[in-house]
Amino acid sequence: MKKRILLYALLLTLLSCNSTPDNPADTIYLGGNIITMKGDSAQYAEAIAVKDGKILFVGSEAEAKKYRGDSTIINNLEGKTMLPGFIDPHSHFINATQLVNWVNVSPRPVGQVNSVEELKNTIAEFIKNKPLKENEWLVGYGYDQTMFEDREATCYDLDEVVPDNPLLIIHVSSHGALLNSKALEISNITAETKDPAGGVISRMPNSKKPSGLLMENAFLPVHQNMPKPTIDDLLKSFDKAQEEYTKWGYTTAQEGASSFDDLQLLKKASDDDLLVIDIISYPLFIDMDKIIGKENFGQYKKHLKVGGIKVLLDGSPQGGTAMQDYLTPGPNGEAHWQGVSFVPKDVFFKVMQTCYDNNLQLNVHTNGSGAIQEMIDGMDEINYDKSKDLRWCSVHCQFVTNEQLDKIAELGMVPSFFTNHAFYWGDVHIKNFGFEVANKLSPIESAYKKGLRPTNHTDYSVTPLDPFMTIWTAVKRETRSGQIIGPEERATIYQALQMLTSNVAYQYHEEDTKGTLEVGKLADLVILDKNPLDIDESTIDDIKNTKVVETIKEGMTVYEN
Ligand SMILES: [Zn+2]
Repeated sequence: MKKRILLYALLLTLLSCNSTPDNPADTIYLGGNIITMKGDSAQYAEAIAVKDGKILFVGSEAEAKKYRGDSTIINNLEGKTMLPGFIDPHSHFINATQLVNWVNVSPRPVGQVNSVEELKNTIAEFIKNKPLKENEWLVGYGYDQTMFEDREATCYDLDEVVPDNPLLIIHVSSHGALLNSKALEISNITAETKDPAGGVISRMPNSKKPSGLLMENAFLPVHQNMPKPTIDDLLKSFDKAQEEYTKWGYTTAQEGASSFDDLQLLKKASDDDLLVIDIISYPLFIDMDKIIGKENFGQYKKHLKVGGIKVLLDGSPQGGTAMQDYLTPGPNGEAHWQGVSFVPKDVFFKVMQTCYDNNLQLNVHTNGSGAIQEMIDGMDEINYDKSKDLRWCSVHCQFVTNEQLDKIAELGMVPSFFTNHAFYWGDVHIKNFGFEVANKLSPIESAYKKGLRPTNHTDYSVTPLDPFMTIWTAVKRETRSGQIIGPEERATIYQALQMLTSNVAYQYHEEDTKGTLEVGKLADLVILDKNPLDIDESTIDDIKNTKVVETIKEGMTVYEN
């Protein structure tokens, strides 16, 4: 009898082994286009199984069923597309913590404001959803009167929608703002106020009355004296700030130029378990002494990693401050203008040496070829050894020359391009640098030919986080006015996707955990309503209509549309 019971128990165990695997998946996804992003061309899998935040299996549907346990959720994608979660190669996450509380009055396609009427409506709609408290400042961003169909807005237009609270709308250049009457009053700007040196107070026609627009040195003190958000205010914004990323399918974001205070804020958010996606911070070199030896570089702790050090070497090509030969005069009428370096060469080289000695990744903001050359020269000067595998990054790398790309490959650097510039400022670049140089903007095809793994970023909040816009600009290279710049440097759609997934994982030294759908990697996933690879280069405009359906970070849904 005893023997019989034992045999029966053994049989039961065997049977249950057959129906329930030892290692059941939490979720199995199937029934869609699962693009693994492994390799140099598209590879699809029928199914993917996820357990404990990691990828357990990638392969056929039949085999995936082996991982089906009693509690496994089967998620039928119903023809939708799954990719590795997007990895942001360069943006400024910290800006999102403020911008989510500000009203976006940018012109299309960034916002919806191309007239005074639309400006008023957008502000009215915003405060309807988020009523203002007494004396609370309302801030807007993206104001660009050059894109208005009718006329410039004035303080009186703003007063119609916000009469009692101070309102300040930052100009798209960040060099000025439009204020309502209450904000002018608080800032003591009246008809009697004289224009400060290096600043302009716009006036109403035939009058000394301020019209609301303050530029440069008239704007700066107003901006500096505005009440600043408290740490608690900023921490409260973290959910919404991360949603700015997750709603576009990003599961990793960059904070690309962190002040010391920014880093402390990120650490507080991480300690308080507020982070749901990974954030990689690059503190500015000016705080290097306070950080090196104290921070654990390259290691995640509760979704926060300090990736390396950041240097802002030159400025922007559209603002006349990138280190590049200009055909147009400098900001103060200078002939043969070549932009400016913000960091003296000896200081910059010392920073390089320190980062190199401490085995740290260095990200350098280098728009113009002059800045890129200075980075390369510095690396030669310190006898930079590629075998250390530090993957120093030329951020923007917009006007890199062919010879410089060779050198970038030789040094094992990562170029992070910025093709959104082709659309937003391509026409300005043609004017500033000529067609030939503008054509070479963000030369993706050349970089690939040299065996590099380029990435492509938005520099949010400089341009929107929308990854489909980034893919579109990389593939189409069309300016606002409809000119195509450098068609020979166009990316394929697959390359454009690599520049947001696998290549970025490499840039961050995270290719073992992210960037492709492979067993053992993190289950960082995005589901799209359509397959970008179904679109060909001739119908590429359609890519802008792609929608993110769901974003999954380590197996957990962090965004659902
Ligand atoms: Zn940036």
